[in-house]
Amino acid sequence: MQVHDSLVELMGNTPLVRLRKVSAGVQPQVLAKVEYFNPGGSVKDRIAIRMIDAAEESGALVPGGTIVEPTSGNTGVGLAIVAQERGYRCVFVCPDKVAKDKIDVLRAYGAEVVVCPTAVSPDHPDSYYSVSDRLARETPNAWKPDQYTNRNNPRSHYETTGPEIWAQTEGRITHFVAGIGTGGTISGTGRYLKEVSGGRVKIIGADPEGSVYSGGTGRPYLTEGVGEDIWPETYDRDICDEVVAVSDKDSFVMTRRLAREDALLVGGSCGMAVVAALRVAATAPDDAVIVVLLPDGGRGYLSKIFNDEWMVQHGFGEQPTTEAAVRDVLARKTAGSS
Ligand code: PMP
Repeated sequence: MQVHDSLVELMGNTPLVRLRKVSAGVQPQVLAKVEYFNPGGSVKDRIAIRMIDAAEESGALVPGGTIVEPTSGNTGVGLAIVAQERGYRCVFVCPDKVAKDKIDVLRAYGAEVVVCPTAVSPDHPDSYYSVSDRLARETPNAWKPDQYTNRNNPRSHYETTGPEIWAQTEGRITHFVAGIGTGGTISGTGRYLKEVSGGRVKIIGADPEGSVYSGGTGRPYLTEGVGEDIWPETYDRDICDEVVAVSDKDSFVMTRRLAREDALLVGGSCGMAVVAALRVAATAPDDAVIVVLLPDGGRGYLSKIFNDEWMVQHGFGEQPTTEAAVRDVLARKTAGSS
């Protein structure tokens, strides 16, 4: 029988899909590594399994222990899936800018979630960094994976994401584009691709405008999971040949286009990475093969990016959608007939 004993076996080995519509008219091939195919719905499954395996080996995580982590959701889901298989408890700490749907998902997997304010500095006692530190100290048998310092985060990408992309493109990849959050994805994948290609593959980071990676000061932006106000240890500052800053508006408009035109219902950091990839494509040679990593799916963003009113409220309004235009016409008709 073709049966898997656990979802954990299905982590990684995600497909590479051509972006047909949003890259129309662009000569280089633009290929998306679609990470929502992971069982937890995001790229973070890869780091969850690798970090937990290593903690079990080192004895940092003991049977019946508790995993405590500050996570905007995706890492939490990956950790929760592995934790369920192996009998650990999970306590996650999230900033309040995270969509409620994402927090509800963590709770649905049986995790406990503590929500903290976004608008405080990282060293403030209520920041999600401080609260998770305190919980990790005060909970018996607690282990904090700390995706911002854990070397197994970039290592998981060096061992899985990088080799998969190299094999899938038969070594023809010329550019790799990914958003930078902890920096694990770009640092691990980037290092593998640079090594295997003898330095030929160019590594391009995508960053929300205002974040430190593209020269900002950490000014608030709304794109989730990427950008930082601090420099995490998991980010290799030498890995990027270039870092492209993308506005929230451009990221979100592209995120909506990906769903409508290429049927890829993905998150806001995916739109951001695709905008950066298309900017790279605009100046790359015609025979370039550009791989852009799409970290997660879009269902966690339905009440934000995919909600017309939310987009307009935040000044990200785009051309009226067909539905909105129809509503508009009907409203004017009704007003005229009354
Ligand atoms: N996009 C989303 C939605 C994420 O959750 C993350 C992880 N924080 C990233 C992009 C960036 O990945 P990394 O942490 O590996 O840099």
